[in-house]
Amino acid sequence: MLQPAALPSLATLRDRHATLSARCEPINMTRGLPSPEQISLTQDFLSLPGTHSFSSADGQDWLNYGGLQGVLEVRALFGPVMLGLPAEQVAIGENSSLALMHEAIGHAWIKGFGGAQPWGKADVVRFICPEPGYDRHFSICDYYGIEMVPVAMTAEGPDMEAVERLVSTDPSIRGMWCVPRHANPNGAIYSTATVNRLATMPTAATDFKLFWDNAYVVHDFIPSSEPRPDVYKACAEAGHADRPLLFASTSKMVIPSSGIAMVGGSPNTLNWWLDCRQHKTIGPDKVNQVRHLMFFQTAQNLSAHMQRHGQLLGAKFDRVQQTFTRHLSGVAQVSWSRPLGGYFIALLVPAGLAKRVVAIAAQAGVKMTPAGATHCHGHDAEERHLRIAPSYLSLAQVEQAAEVIANSVLLACAEREAGQ
Ligand code: PLP
Repeated sequence: MLQPAALPSLATLRDRHATLSARCEPINMTRGLPSPEQISLTQDFLSLPGTHSFSSADGQDWLNYGGLQGVLEVRALFGPVMLGLPAEQVAIGENSSLALMHEAIGHAWIKGFGGAQPWGKADVVRFICPEPGYDRHFSICDYYGIEMVPVAMTAEGPDMEAVERLVSTDPSIRGMWCVPRHANPNGAIYSTATVNRLATMPTAATDFKLFWDNAYVVHDFIPSSEPRPDVYKACAEAGHADRPLLFASTSKMVIPSSGIAMVGGSPNTLNWWLDCRQHKTIGPDKVNQVRHLMFFQTAQNLSAHMQRHGQLLGAKFDRVQQTFTRHLSGVAQVSWSRPLGGYFIALLVPAGLAKRVVAIAAQAGVKMTPAGATHCHGHDAEERHLRIAPSYLSLAQVEQAAEVIANSVLLACAEREAGQ
């Protein structure tokens, strides 16, 4: 059996911390923002749509009110690639998919689904929340007073035995957060088996929904031609076509505040969405939709554009992997994920040390996502999980930050070993 690697001495690690602190400019890696180089890939976007003319095949005037579902051609371009759905089963919203998720729960709260009791009238509404997960999903639950039911996240997706047990016995569990490709933060890709189990599992709630957040669905570092599990098809084949609500946006493909967000699902789900939404807006920003259409034009262009993003991001993720491998390989109870896309790496440190690692890194000028942020209510009972977000930094900053974080982990371990 492999012995854990011996730690360098406390004195050596403190010296190194001092050297790194003196060298390191302040670095903020709290959130996964696209970098300026990534955003510059979209420079031409700023001059679109210009004075080009556009007319939609369905006769909808893009320059006037209306078009609640979004421009047909835009739905036809993005629906299949980002949600695996045809144009008819997709609606385009404003710029943020997170806002659409929040809104969908709001509609469920007031109207409910398909004649079932509105969620707001129930004594308690619970959601399955894979942990580690995305803090803003948890924050939406907090906002509505939804009780979060944590389940462990593995490299293949959520712990399905726990999910199946919980949803089959508890009718108050009405939904579940899923980030199926390059999950935030461990980068997991849900396996076909996981997707099939989510699609087929019996649920005690008749209106149970998968909140399927495809935030990183086209965000691979290296293009992969492997077939992807199709959650809508799997649900429909299992007789649960209304189970998934799929979301995505172009926030991390173009200019983050000026993307377009989309929601999709079964024909019933789309009707429900549009029926609820007509009380909120006459129609979303179609000029921005047409700008997207003019910029990308085809699915092939979209994929080539995302390859360029993938190359920029992949180089940074490689740098973190190399640095962690050099310093942290074999250290007892330390491990990290090796994502193939997305924006984050999950770092696991020995129990009870996550906050200390963040504090040591901060002394050296590296601001990390706060310990606990990956867990419901910001509380990681084991205090082990950290999120690494290298996307925004330059390669040189990534290298520095990874060195600081690796040394902070070793120093926290050595302090504990020395009883300090
Ligand atoms: N979903 C996940 C899993 C994310 O990580 C993020 C952003 O970090 C979002 C959604 C935000 O998406 P949008 O910009 O479309 O609101």
